[in-house]
Amino acid sequence: MSRGLLIVVSGPAGSGKGTVNSQLVATGDFVFSVSATTRAPRPGEVNGVNYHFIDREEFQRRIDDNGFLEYTTYCDNFYGTPLKEALAVLDSGKNLILEIECDGAKNVKRIFPDAVLIMLIPPTFSIQEERLRGRATETEEVIRARLEKSKVEMGCFEHYDYVVINQDEGAKKAALDIINITKSEKKRTSRRLEVKEHFYE
Ligand code: 5GP
Repeated sequence: MSRGLLIVVSGPAGSGKGTVNSQLVATGDFVFSVSATTRAPRPGEVNGVNYHFIDREEFQRRIDDNGFLEYTTYCDNFYGTPLKEALAVLDSGKNLILEIECDGAKNVKRIFPDAVLIMLIPPTFSIQEERLRGRATETEEVIRARLEKSKVEMGCFEHYDYVVINQDEGAKKAALDIINITKSEKKRTSRRLEVKEHFYE
C-alpha cells in the first residue's frame, strides 16, 4: 500500500476551507489533521474535533518533546500540527489535510518536500467580502481585520504548488479539483518507482 499524501490547504477567511475539507473527509480517503492551539474555543467548537485546546505550558512541553511536525504563532496564540498522529495517518495510506497558515505551509514544504501545497481562494476580493459579511457571525472590526490579514496571506501565493478557486458556495467543484490534484500527484514518477522495479518480474 502506498503512503498517503501530505496536503496543505491554506486560504484567506471566506475561502471556504472548512466546507471543502469536510467534503474531502466525507470521501473516506482524506483525514483532517486536528491541530493543537492555545486560543480559546469559539462557540460550537469541540475539543479534539476542531482543535486540541491546550494551555501555553502544555504547548511548550510538546514543543520540547518534539511533538509537532510544525508550529507557529498567529495573533498571539500558538498553533501546531501533532507529529505522531500525522505520521500514523500517512502510514495508513490515507491522505492527510493540514489546514494551516502560510508560515506553517512553508515549514512543511521544507521538512517534507513532497508535500502538496494548495492555496484556496474566493473568486474575487468583493465576493470574499460578501461571504464574510453574509456569515454575520463577526463584528465589522473583526471582518476588516480578517480582510486585511487575507491580503498578507495572498502574499504567499507563489509558495504554493496549486491554486484552487472556490467558485460555488457548496464548494463541490473546489473539492473535486483537490481530488483530481491528489490523483495526479499520486501518479508522479517519484512516487511510483516501484512500478519500474517490478516491471520485469
Ligand atoms: P483560527 O484561530 O481562525 O482557527 O486559525 C488561525 C490560523 O491558524 C488559520 O489560518 C489556520 O489555518 C491556522 N492554523 C490552524 N492550525 C494550525 C497549525 O497547526 N499550524 C499552523 N502553522 N497554522 C495553523
